[in-house]
Order: sequence, then C-alpha cells, then structure tokens
Amino acid sequence: YYKLLFSLALLIICNVMQAQNAKMNAFVTALMNKMTLEEKLGQLNLLTTGEVVTGSVVSTGVEKKIKDGQVGALLNITKVADIKRAQEIAVTQTRLKIPLMFGLDVVHGYKTTFPIPLALSCSWDMDMIERSARIAAIEASADGINWTFSPMVDIARDPRWGRIAEGSGEDPYLGSKIAAAMVKGYQGDDLSKNNTIMACVKHFALYGAVESGRDYNTADMSHVRMYNEYFPPYKAAVEAGAGTVMTAFNEVDGIPATGNKWLMTDVLRKQWGFNGFVVTDFTAINEMMAHGMGDLQTVSALSLRAGTDMDMVGEGFTGTLPKSLKEGKVSINEINAACRRILEAKYKLGLFDDPYRYCDPSRAKNEIYTEASRMEARRAAAKTFVLLKNQNNLLPLKKQGSIALVGPLANSRVNMTGTWSVSAEKEKHPSLLEALQSQLGAANVKINYAKGSNLTADSTLEKNSTMFGRSLNRDNRSAEALKKEALDAAANSDIIVAALGEASEMSGESSSRTDIGIPDTQKELLAALVATGKPVVLVLFAGRPMTLNWENKNVPAILNVWFGGCEAGAAIADVLFGDVNPSGKLTTTFPQNVGQIPLYYNHKNTGRPLAENEKWFNKFRSNYLDVSNEPLYPFGYGLSYTTFAYSDIQLSGTRFKPGGSITASVTLTNTGSVDGVEVVQQYIRDLAGSITRPVKELKNFQRIALKAGESKKVTFTITENDLKFYNSDLKFVAEPGDFKLFIGGNSRDVKEAGFTLQ
Ligand code: BGC
Repeated sequence: YYKLLFSLALLIICNVMQAQNAKMNAFVTALMNKMTLEEKLGQLNLLTTGEVVTGSVVSTGVEKKIKDGQVGALLNITKVADIKRAQEIAVTQTRLKIPLMFGLDVVHGYKTTFPIPLALSCSWDMDMIERSARIAAIEASADGINWTFSPMVDIARDPRWGRIAEGSGEDPYLGSKIAAAMVKGYQGDDLSKNNTIMACVKHFALYGAVESGRDYNTADMSHVRMYNEYFPPYKAAVEAGAGTVMTAFNEVDGIPATGNKWLMTDVLRKQWGFNGFVVTDFTAINEMMAHGMGDLQTVSALSLRAGTDMDMVGEGFTGTLPKSLKEGKVSINEINAACRRILEAKYKLGLFDDPYRYCDPSRAKNEIYTEASRMEARRAAAKTFVLLKNQNNLLPLKKQGSIALVGPLANSRVNMTGTWSVSAEKEKHPSLLEALQSQLGAANVKINYAKGSNLTADSTLEKNSTMFGRSLNRDNRSAEALKKEALDAAANSDIIVAALGEASEMSGESSSRTDIGIPDTQKELLAALVATGKPVVLVLFAGRPMTLNWENKNVPAILNVWFGGCEAGAAIADVLFGDVNPSGKLTTTFPQNVGQIPLYYNHKNTGRPLAENEKWFNKFRSNYLDVSNEPLYPFGYGLSYTTFAYSDIQLSGTRFKPGGSITASVTLTNTGSVDGVEVVQQYIRDLAGSITRPVKELKNFQRIALKAGESKKVTFTITENDLKFYNSDLKFVAEPGDFKLFIGGNSRDVKEAGFTLQ
C-alpha cells in the first residue's frame, strides 16, 4: 500500500516537472525565435563594471552594450543600486527586455562571513556547512545577487597552492559530501524563490592539481586518477543540481579545460547528465591564446564547440563568433544551444517573472548580518578550529590571572576573514583582542597586548601579498623594538597567547608560496617567547596546511584557527577559555616539510617498503634520507579537551554479496572529564584490485557528541557501493575480494578488521 502511494507521488512529481519543463521550453523557444544573432551572442557575454575586479581586465562601455542587447550577465558588482540600475536598463531599454543575471564570488558567506572553505571542511558538519551556504544565499540575494561562483570543489594536495584555502581539502569522499551540501544550501529546494541563488561549481577540472602548486599552472594526470580522485566532488555538485559549472584555467589532457570537448561535453553533459550552463573562468578563452591554441577566433570557436556557454569578460564570443559562423567554423545550433541554456537559467531563477526580485531593501535591512546569523557564524567558526597540540592540558585557559596577547594577528581586523571577503566589510569584524576584552568583561583577567612583530619582514613576500592593494599593516618600529614590547608584556603575564601565522593575503588566488611556514620574523618572535620559559599557546592563522616542525617540538599548545570569518575573534575566545571544546579535524595532511609535497593519506603503495624495520630489500626503500614518510599531522587529525577511546570493531558478518551489506560498530567512550564531540571516521582498503588501490579511503564518518564518561555504539553500514571505483575501462565497479576496514579518530590511529565481498 505504501509502495503504491510512493509510486503515485513520484508519478505526480514527474508529471509536474515535465509540465514545468514544457512550459519553460515553450517560453524560451518563443523568445529565441525573436532574437537576432547579436542578441543571442549577447546572452553568452558576461561582463564586469570594474568596481571589484579580480583579474586585470575591466569591461568597457558596459552600459551601451547592455542597451544594445550585448550582455547576458554581470559579475562582481557589490552595490545594490548599481545592480538595480543595470537591470533597469536591461528590462526597459533593450529590444527584448531580457533580464541580466548578477554573479559574485560569495564563497564563505556574504556579509556574515563564515570561515574559509578549507576551515569549514574541518568541521565535518554537513548541516552546518549547508546552513552557512543558506545564510550566504539569503543575504546575497537580498542585495541583488542571484548567482554565486561557489562551491569551489577542487581536490588539492599541494599546500603551496594558495587556493587550497578555497576548497575542502584532499579527500574525494568528504569533498563530494561538502560539494552537495553547499549546492543545497545556495539553491534550496526551489531556485525561483527570491532568497535562493544559483550555484556555480568550479573549477572544472583539476585546477587543484596544478604542477608545483603554482597558480594557473599545467595539470596532467591519468584518467583513472581523474575519475577516482579528482572528479567525484564536481560530479556530486552536478548531481545535487548545481545550475552552472565554471571551467578551469589549466589544461586537461593537453587541451585547456575551457576548450576541452571531452571534458565539457562527454564527461559533464553526456556521462553526468549536466543540463545547466558552463561559464568560463575570468578571460579563460583569451588565455588559451597564450596556452598556444591559436588566435582569438580559433579559441573562441573551440570553446563554444567544446560546450562552453558563457564567456567571462574576454568578449571572444561576441567579437569573433559571427565571423566563425559565416566561415562554418561554428554552427547556429551550437550558438542556440548555449543561448538556450542561459535563458533557461534565468527562467529557473524567476527573472522573467520579476527581474528585481533579488533586490529587496526590506529583506536587506532585516536579513543581512543579523545577530542570529552572526551567532551561527560564531558557532560555526569554533567547530572549524583544529587543536594540533595541547601538552599537559595547557588549554583551556582559566579565566583568571594575566595573559600576554601578542603577535601581528592579535589585533588585526582585516585578517579575520581571509580570502574572498567583501572588502568594504572587513574593517568591521572584531579582532581577537577586541573579542577577548568584550567577552572577558568583568572577569578577573588582565590582558597585556603587544604586536610583537610585523606579519613579514621579507620584502618580496610583502610586496606580492599586497598585490591587490590591501595592506599587511606594516609597523615601522624596528623588529627589536616590537619584540621587546612583546617580551615586556610576557614578563608581566602568567601565560602567553601568540596570534601568528599568515596574513589573509598570503593564501587564495595567485597566492602560492614555496615556504609554507610561519614567516621568519614572526618565528623569531615565537622563539623569543618560548625562551622566556612561560607557557605559550600558539593561535595559528592559516589559509593552508603549514609546516610546523619547530613549533610542534617547542610550543606546548597549538590551536589552528584558519581564517574564521566575521565572528572569529569571539569563537577563538570561546575555545581558548573552554566554553566550546574544539572538535575540528584536518582535511589536509600537514607535511613535515615542503620537500614531502604532495603528501596525502589516500596514496598508493609502491612495491618497496617505506620504513627501516621492513626487512625485504631493506636498503632500497621508497623514502628520503633526511625525513621519514610520515606527515606531521595526518588527515583527520585533531585533539579535544577530552579524550576518546575506541573499542575493537564488531562486524555483523565478514562476507556479503553484491546487493547485501554488513555493519561495523565500535563503542566510543568519552574518557575525559569534559563533554566533547568526536568525528568517527571509517576507512576502507581494497586489498587486491584490477588496478592499484589506495592504502586507505574515507568511506563514512559521524560526528558524535558525548558527555564526560558517556559511551555510545557507533555503527556504519557497508554496502557494495562503498567498494566501487573506476577501473581501467573507467567503469564504476566493485570487485569481489578481501577488504580491510579501519575506524578511528584520524586516518593514522585506527582499529582494523577484515571482510570479503563475494
Ligand atoms: C577566479 C574564479 C572567480 C572569478 C570571478 C577568477 O579569477 O579564478 O574563481 O570566480 O575570478 O571573480
């Protein structure tokens, strides 16, 4: 009976969707029948007015181009009045009155800034991540934005790459979950509502695999690796319904992604069924000339034919496609297909019903940067911090005595939110010092603040980090004078909290580094503080995994706080004083040094032993002479103010057939004296396959809250699906055989069991 009801409901939903699609098709067809070639190409044109410019190119004559029907969408306009005006021109002064789309990089919140994406991923909290995207959509849409260039789902295993800050780390399974959660958050269940916005999954594909971590560099890898390790998050975002996809700057298989037909048509549309539109990255078509793919006409035609629909800022489509059409280098069907997809997106957003629906001053007034959403951002931030070390339970701090709060990040508002934050807003968010002062209020704690050092004394790093006109706030006093002030503050205090690390400009786009340690001048300050013999807590601001060997050896407590968003200061205080127990777990491996990169937990084995104590071929090991193969902190790692114990794994059976399943359980006990949250992680290893398989792959996880002393049975179900991978024919299969199962609180410290797929 229930099955019947369910089938009936499904049938009704399918019918309604079909009817809606038919209505949309009829509308778009009727509109396209009226459009000239120039107007169709106009829809394929995305321009910027140059108020907020991420690239070097600013569009010119935009107003006239809108009037002439030569623009389909605008990006990076942050003033709602400007958005309204542009929309007014489009819907009142053009021949066909087609509304514009407005895109912006709303990447980790809009005005209520959430932690950077890499930090968010360390929460392993899908509901919270979805909620952060929901709040971002509610806020941005009230200000006229209806399209965000997010989520960025590029798998990244090279912390030199500055854009590692914008993604969810190194793991395809976790990355896929997060990609889907973000798309759901932005788009909600109905894109036509005025508080949902269209997502754009980027950068398709392999942008995170740029060689040597240098931004925009070449990427090259086998198809097996693409499908198993790099494609899954893009695919998950598409399956979650992402309306648009952005191309990557890099080449894939020797052809720049933007002009790569295999990628944009065969994989994306045919294999994954994507039916939205593809936008290039910023002037990516034009960049194909520098890649050596021919002149602007050639690369524009190549991109259109590949399945790219909208040209971001480069104007190669509007400039050259008429000629290519005449010469038979592109067909009108290809132009029509692109135009149709873009008009469909506008239809889905409800822009033809009400082009101003996304500019809502009363919503803007009541729904942007509210107390409630800031509280969410604060709770979210605290969940993203990763406690890397806590010798002798130095943390949490007691609300008594005196604290030396030192470091160039201790009182720096502009450095709380990290990359991709609305710049006009940055000055508004309280610094750590301000947050501590206001939170401690009447408590009997004395804070002795000193800046202690500049962010960097390296003029090259400083010059390049301020490329976008932002400032590292250099203090012109000498390094010695700054340090002395910090040491004086330390001398008058019981404990030292050092807020050090990267400036927010040191990660993000075009912000790769070859040295991923704390900049030298800050490290010198830290060494001097440690030398005082007073206990030191390092509060580390970072947009990437950093090398922390010295710090790990010499500093008793390290709390990695990334860039925590608009409420980062308050959230850091919450965790430092134990009002919140940290629960973040790393989603990227922290290497011991740069020479180990790329270092990631889900690697393959070689035929050679890694470690000294393995006897076979003892001399010819797959190792380095100077450093072990171990990371400093493994994937999944993060401490808590309490401790958790794992029982051995109990399996419901050790064999199952395709279609069947087994369960694996552990009893998790909070063995410490405070309540806490543990992220229980399940990994699987395929012991023998038709292609080589990783030593371990994350296949499930649960966030478990336990009171002090409490125990809970945590159960995972394992099915054939968890064992599937793309084989050398790129078929997604599970191969019968033996598997190992691991459960633990990080990828290294795990309990093991074995099972067989029959
Ligand atoms: C970045 C994209 C971004 C676009 C628009 C590009 O430079 O690579 O991630 O969405 O600019 O701002």
